[in-house]
Amino acid sequence: MASIRDLLFGERERASQRVAALEREFGDLAEAASAPGTDDEHDPEGATLAFERQRAAALLEQARAHIASVDAALRRLDEGNFGRCERCGRPIGEDRLAARPTATTCLTCAPRR
Ligand SMILES: [Zn+2]
Repeated sequence: MASIRDLLFGERERASQRVAALEREFGDLAEAASAPGTDDEHDPEGATLAFERQRAAALLEQARAHIASVDAALRRLDEGNFGRCERCGRPIGEDRLAARPTATTCLTCAPRR
C-alpha cells in the first residue's frame, strides 16, 4: 500500500500538471480575446471567450488551492500533526484520509455542503 506521503506527492504532481495545462489554456484564451475584432460586450464570440476565460481562471484557482492544501498536508506530516482534526483534535480516520489525504477535519467537523 502506498504511504500517505506518496499519495500526497502523487496529488501534488497531478495538480501541478493541471495548473500548467490551465495556464496554457488561459494564455491561449487571453490571446484569442485580444485578437483584433474581438469585442467582449457586443461580439457573441467575445462573450464566449470571456466566459471561457472566467471558467479557466476559476479552475486555475481551484487547482492552485489544491496544491496549497497538499503542501499544508505534507507540512503537517513533517510536524507530526497529520491525521488530527484541526477543530476537535481527534483522529480524522484512516478511511477518510485514504480517500482525501488533504482533509484537515474529521467527518463530524467537516463543513457540510
Ligand atoms: Zn473533528
